Amino acid sequence: MKLSLMKKLSLGFLSAVLGSIILASLISNYTVGKEFKKYLVDEHKTKVDNAIKIINELYSTEQDPSSISTQEIQRYAQLQELYIEVHDLNNNILYSSGNSYLQHSSMMGNMMGGMMNGFSGMNIGEYTENKYPLVANNKNIGTIVIGYFGASYLSSASVTFLRTLNHSFMLSAIAALFFGFIISAIISRQLSKPLVKITETANKMRTGDLEVRANINTSTKEIDELSNSINYLAETLNNQEMLRKRLTSDMAHELRTPLTTLKTHVEAFMDGIWEPTNERFETFYEEIERMTKMVDTLRNLAKLEQSNLNLTKSTINLSDELEKIIDTFKPLYIKKNYELSSSIAPGITAIIDKDKFKQIMNNLISNSYKYLKPNGQVHVVLEKEKQNIIIKVIDNGIGIPEKDLPYIFERFYRTDLSRNKNTGGSGIGLTITKAFVEAHGGKIYVESKVNEGTTFIVVLPNNATDNK
Ligand code: ADP
Repeated sequence: MKLSLMKKLSLGFLSAVLGSIILASLISNYTVGKEFKKYLVDEHKTKVDNAIKIINELYSTEQDPSSISTQEIQRYAQLQELYIEVHDLNNNILYSSGNSYLQHSSMMGNMMGGMMNGFSGMNIGEYTENKYPLVANNKNIGTIVIGYFGASYLSSASVTFLRTLNHSFMLSAIAALFFGFIISAIISRQLSKPLVKITETANKMRTGDLEVRANINTSTKEIDELSNSINYLAETLNNQEMLRKRLTSDMAHELRTPLTTLKTHVEAFMDGIWEPTNERFETFYEEIERMTKMVDTLRNLAKLEQSNLNLTKSTINLSDELEKIIDTFKPLYIKKNYELSSSIAPGITAIIDKDKFKQIMNNLISNSYKYLKPNGQVHVVLEKEKQNIIIKVIDNGIGIPEKDLPYIFERFYRTDLSRNKNTGGSGIGLTITKAFVEAHGGKIYVESKVNEGTTFIVVLPNNATDNK
C-alpha cells in the first residue's frame, strides 16, 4: 500500500508518541508504585515506633501505672489512627484508646468483635494488630498492643497515588498526541511541498520543457541537494539539446559551402560561361578533398566514441619529443611573423602512446596558430609537478568568449570568432584531443579571455617508472 508522506509521517509520529507514553507509564507505575508503598510502610513503622516510645517513656517516669495521664497517648492514637492498648504483666488493661475514631468504623463493629477477644497479632481481614513489650527502666512491665487498618490503608493510598499518576499520564498522552499531530503535519508539509514541486519539474522536463527549474526554498539538506540535481540535470539536458541543434546546423553549413561552390562552378561550365580549365578543376578537387576529410574525421570520431581507444604505449622522452614537434611548427610561424617559444624541463619521460601525444600537441599548437592575431606569440611549457606532468600551450590570440568555454570540447563546436576568421576548422580537433588525453588518464583544461589569449593545460599522470 502506498501512503503519502504526510500520512506516513503522522502515523509514525503518533505511534512513537503513544508508544513512549505507554512505556513511560508502565515503568513509572511499577517503580513509583513500589517506592511509594515502601515509603508508606516505612512511615507507618515510624508511627508505631513513636507510639511505643511515647508509651514506654510515660510508663517509665511514673511509679504507679494507674495514675499515669494517658492524654498524650490518646492524642497520638487519634492523630495517627492507631488502636492502642496497654496491658500489665497479668494482662490487665491499663489503657485503651477506644476505636471510635478509627477508619472504616462501620466495619469495625464486625471485626473488632472478633479480634478484641484474642489480641493475636495476626491479620484479621484488613485489620492488623501487633504486640510489643512495655519496658520501664529496662524492665518488662507489660505489653503494648497496636492495631491499625494496614492493608487497606496502604493500598488505598498507593492506589489513589497511582490513579493520579495514570491520570496525569493520560492527560499528557492526549496533549502529546495533539502536539505530535500538529508537529507531524507541519514537518510533513515542509517535506512534501518541495518534493511535489520537484516531481512537477521532472514531469515538465519529461514532456520536453527543459527551461523549467525547481525554485525551492527549503532548509532540508537532502531536498535542497535533490532540487539542485534536478536543476543541474535540466541545465545539462538543455545544453545537450542546444548542442545537438547546433551540430546539425553546423554540419549542414560545413557541407553546404563546398557543395555550393561546386554547384555554381558546374552550372557555369554547363552554361558555357566558364571554360573548364585545369586551375578550376584544382579548386574542385580542393573542395572535394575538404569534404572527404570532413567525412573521414566524422568516421574517426564515431570510432573514437564507440570503442575504448587502443593505446600503443611505450616509455618516451616527452621533453625531446615536444622539442621536435615545436621545431616542425617553427617555419610556419616564422612565415607569418609569429613567435613560437618554449620552456621545456629536460628529461621528462612518460609511458604514453607517442602518436597520440603528437596528435594532441599538433592540435593544440596548430589551434593557437590558427587563432593568433598579427604579431602573435605562442609559448609551450612542459614541467613536472608531484604526481603529474603538465603541458601548457599559451597564446595571445583572439581568445574564446566565456559563454563558449564549457562547450569548446564538444563535437563541431566553434566560436563565432573562429567562424569569422575563416580558418577552415571543423570543430573536431579539440574533441579528439580531449579523448586522447583522457585515454591516458589525464585531463585537459582551458582558460581564455577574448582578445587577450588562450591557455590549454594538459595534465598527464606521472606514471613513468624511470622518472626521477
Ligand atoms: P577547429 O577545427 O574549429 O579549430 P577545434 O575543436 O580544434 O576545432 O576547436 C574548436 C573551437 O575552439 C575552434 O573553432 C575555436 O573557436 C576554439 N578554439 C580552439 N583553440 C583556440 C585558441 N587557441 N584560441 C581561440 N579559440 C580557440
